[in-house]
Amino acid sequence: MASVSLRLTVSHEGVLVVHNQEDMSCYDLGRKRDFIISTYRLESSGVWTTDVPNTAPCGPGCRVRCHGERERVTGPRHPLLVVKCEVHGLSFTVYPPGFIPYSRQRLVPRHQRWEATMFEAALDADRDERWSDIGADGGFWSTQWRRLERLGLLLGLAGDARIGEEAAQALDVGLHVHAAAREAFERGGFRRRASALVKVLDALRSDGAEVLRRLLRAGVVTGYCGRSFWSDARFGVREVGAF
Ligand SMILES: [Zn+2]
Repeated sequence: MASVSLRLTVSHEGVLVVHNQEDMSCYDLGRKRDFIISTYRLESSGVWTTDVPNTAPCGPGCRVRCHGERERVTGPRHPLLVVKCEVHGLSFTVYPPGFIPYSRQRLVPRHQRWEATMFEAALDADRDERWSDIGADGGFWSTQWRRLERLGLLLGLAGDARIGEEAAQALDVGLHVHAAAREAFERGGFRRRASALVKVLDALRSDGAEVLRRLLRAGVVTGYCGRSFWSDARFGVREVGAF
């Protein structure tokens, strides 16, 4: 096997950049920020809290402390814990299960109500329910169309074919199902794109926790979101997909 000399640097935006020193090409992994997932509980005082993780994704040897709370304008309705590793100087936001950074809606539902997730836009469009042009009753059509595009990125239906195959594996969806959805998504308009998304979703939604794990793995492969790490008192933090 030919050896390739790679050099890794971190850009000022915190993005990992890989330089191939053989042919001087340089490509950007476009890594989004890693985040931690942990269960929040409602205290009798009415405040949602979660435990400070006993380690962090930047480990080993992390020393983690609370770094404050982040008020959310999107996503969960309560503030999120932000922790910082004093050894490696990195901070991480702690999300409740089902949420990912910068998303207004849940990635997976709590009670199988997929209409209350990011997939709402696709489920509506698949039923030919086009959101309003004037933003009445929930949303603008332009928002719905943009969300279809974002879902296409998440599931690997848009963009590079090789990443599409990796996404199919991460999602544990049959390659033929995924490839057919990819083709429909690439060529399709509003309704056909939505139907391609729903076909992949249907292949996925068998059971709650496993779907979340598969979507989070796909999100990393397609560059939609950073790596996610489950936190619990017994095991510390473990990367989703690595267990
Ligand atoms: Zn650390």
